[in-house]
Amino acid sequence: MPAITRAARLPGRLVLAAITLKRAARPAMAAWLALGALAGALLGPCAAAHAADAPGATLPVVAAENFYGDVVKQIGGAYVSVTSILSNPDQDPHLFEASPKTARALQHARLVVYNGADYDPWMTKLLSATGSGGGQRTIVVAADLVGKKAGDNPHLWYDPRTMPAVARAVSAALGTADPAHKSVYDANLAAFLGSLKPIDDKIAALRAQYKGQPVTATEPVFGYMSDAIGLDMRNLRFQMATMNDTEASASDIAAFERDLRERRVRVLIYNSQATEALTRRMLGIAQQSKVPALSVTETQPAGVSFQQWMLGQLDALAKALAQK
Ligand SMILES: [Zn+2]
Repeated sequence: MPAITRAARLPGRLVLAAITLKRAARPAMAAWLALGALAGALLGPCAAAHAADAPGATLPVVAAENFYGDVVKQIGGAYVSVTSILSNPDQDPHLFEASPKTARALQHARLVVYNGADYDPWMTKLLSATGSGGGQRTIVVAADLVGKKAGDNPHLWYDPRTMPAVARAVSAALGTADPAHKSVYDANLAAFLGSLKPIDDKIAALRAQYKGQPVTATEPVFGYMSDAIGLDMRNLRFQMATMNDTEASASDIAAFERDLRERRVRVLIYNSQATEALTRRMLGIAQQSKVPALSVTETQPAGVSFQQWMLGQLDALAKALAQK
């Protein structure tokens, strides 16, 4: 299982790199940290624990997934420093295992955001291993906010209801941890909620045009978005097998192939982060049968915001659905 080992090690290195960069880019912050350490040496461990409260310091935040990290950055702005653990769109997040390096980032976090619904079970383990953060740590679990649990489709960030709920919870948590900037967090929350409108508009437009159209997918990553548009999503058992890294049954594979060969579906939604021989084979059959394929990712790609990422995928879906 070398692929799993690699997935477990790489993100840890990325986290460390992110922390190093942040320190290098913020000499003022480093100075405050040094002051805090000095105060700690003079006054004892209690004063050191409050170094993050010094003026000019940022609130340390850890997000298990980078799309939640992006939302925290959009709400917290200059007053937060965010470390996202899953941030590589070339790895399968379902195979991720945390390393001790991941745990280190969590130790000082004042706010922790993760998905839940068994998408990132390593977070629960890490959080219990790193203690309660001195009682100053707030934890936001997306699944709890939208009433989802283990066994439900865990790709909650594709549900248009999830990010507004996460953003509200993040804004409230930041306002409590740092009341001096509450008005900034409130204003950034309002701007964030407003910026989601083009996504909702695009979903409504697609729904008006394509509700009930049959599509299929290699993995359930886009499931909630597909439901919001009202598409008829086929081959769900095959998708669950891909997600859980188990074997799809012969009849489920045959049904999937038939849907593609006989062009019973308008689009194949292809998760480019969960690829194995069988899903690549389905992509090949779709190409032969001239069923348009839409490539989607679980993890937010570098250089785009959550909003740009979602809109880009919806635009690509519109193009794929428009093909005859
Ligand atoms: Zn997935």
